[in-house]
Amino acid sequence: MSRNDAVFRFAPSPNGELHLGHAFSALVNFEMAHSAGATFLLRHEDIDTTRCTPAFERQVEDDLNFLGVDWDGPPRRQSEHMADYGAALEALAAEEIVYPAFMTRGEVKAYVERYEAEEGRPWPRDPDGAPLYPGLDRHASTAEREHRMSEGERFAWRLDVERAIEMVPALSWDEYGASPLGESGKIVARPLEWGDVVLGRMDIPASYHLSVVVDDAIQGVTDVVRGRDLFYATSIHRLLQALLGLPVPRYHHHALILGEDGRKLSKSAGDTAIRALREAGMTAEDLRRMVGLAGRSAAKTATIPRGSSARR
Ligand code: GLU
Repeated sequence: MSRNDAVFRFAPSPNGELHLGHAFSALVNFEMAHSAGATFLLRHEDIDTTRCTPAFERQVEDDLNFLGVDWDGPPRRQSEHMADYGAALEALAAEEIVYPAFMTRGEVKAYVERYEAEEGRPWPRDPDGAPLYPGLDRHASTAEREHRMSEGERFAWRLDVERAIEMVPALSWDEYGASPLGESGKIVARPLEWGDVVLGRMDIPASYHLSVVVDDAIQGVTDVVRGRDLFYATSIHRLLQALLGLPVPRYHHHALILGEDGRKLSKSAGDTAIRALREAGMTAEDLRRMVGLAGRSAAKTATIPRGSSARR
């Protein structure tokens, strides 16, 4: 049980099997929480109900139990809290910084290709390498938006990031892990690098970015421990926290466990799936050894700054 008001969470998406990368992440997270005397929560990030299944969710919990990772209270399941994300989306829409974006993936691709051919220089990409949304419909009139929506045209709710940043001061966060380039300490947020991110879909008023910041606030999360692949996304999370008036957790982005080819492990990583390793007879200690945590506490990977409690 917790000895203080620090709250950590592990937040996998039950859309596939956990692999060694998740094992490392869960162990580091859990043991840091434990050594801080904090509460440790499990959250199933299952807004994508086409890919997330109850069977994967059960497997996640079973694999965590096998690793010796246990959590306080019942897990939160995002699919059960759409109203919370919908309310946040509406609050942003009321500020006129969200718009229905109608360009399909194919249209964006064609637009970017044409631009690059005509201009002879690359169209800007986000930190994950995807082209920024061109936003040709960013300033459409209300009448045009309503017409297209009533015609049943498909759209996603996107953040007008340029307008949004005008509403908030310069943003930063406290990083006690590190960026992929090794930066830590006070990190300046650069949300413009992401362009107009998706905040909601036609059928669900949520996206990863929106639900993660809403849930961290609702659950009182003070310490976000996750992989470095999400370091840059923190810029968007900080912007959404500022726009929605939410508290700011501390962040610890840890190193990733890479496959033999040097690439990030994926959910279809087959032989690195925890289930497959268990079935092959591996023990929890074997898995710890495989991720470089044999015989030592994963919490030692970080010194947790105490005393500087999360800003409210
Ligand atoms: N659900 C995300 C994932 O599985 C992690 C979200 C987070 O830790 O912020 O990659």
